[in-house]
Amino acid sequence: MDRVCRDCGGPVSRQSKGRCKPCQIAYMQSDPEIAERRRAAIKRHCAQPEVKSARALRLRNYLQNMPESDREKRREHGRRQYRDCLSRPDVVAKTLAPEVRRRAGRARTDTVLAWCPPELRETYRELIRRNGLSASDARAALEPSIPGTVAHAKLTIENFNLKQKLRVERQQREAY
Ligand SMILES: [Zn+2]
Repeated sequence: MDRVCRDCGGPVSRQSKGRCKPCQIAYMQSDPEIAERRRAAIKRHCAQPEVKSARALRLRNYLQNMPESDREKRREHGRRQYRDCLSRPDVVAKTLAPEVRRRAGRARTDTVLAWCPPELRETYRELIRRNGLSASDARAALEPSIPGTVAHAKLTIENFNLKQKLRVERQQREAY
């Protein structure tokens, strides 16, 4: 007897585990756990430094040597995107919707303030808004409290040295 897809009843290949190819793809995408595992695996793969630098190099090479025909194809694609999609009234309305703009704003913040942990961002804004600091001064003021920064390492060493010094002084006092 021929095996059939358990979802659509269509024909399946002999190697399949019960679903035809389209149904197997739909099934994997419908299961949040599988989707999450795949996303995590892709993320892990892409986070490897050698994968990142190889991709950056490939992209840089391509952009520098892009054939004129590709360039024109890209321009044409952009024009088509605008004409068929971006200029459509419903799309324009959607991109201007408050919650969409808020989400875009948050995404931009995550990029621009990637150096700043979320719990310090309000402080950062206050330093600029209320205390009138420049962006770079505000950042410099916060960095000592952000582990992983040079300023934080410096402060940690300074604190350590200070503690050492105080201990030595105390020991000297107690020696008399
Ligand atoms: Zn199927």
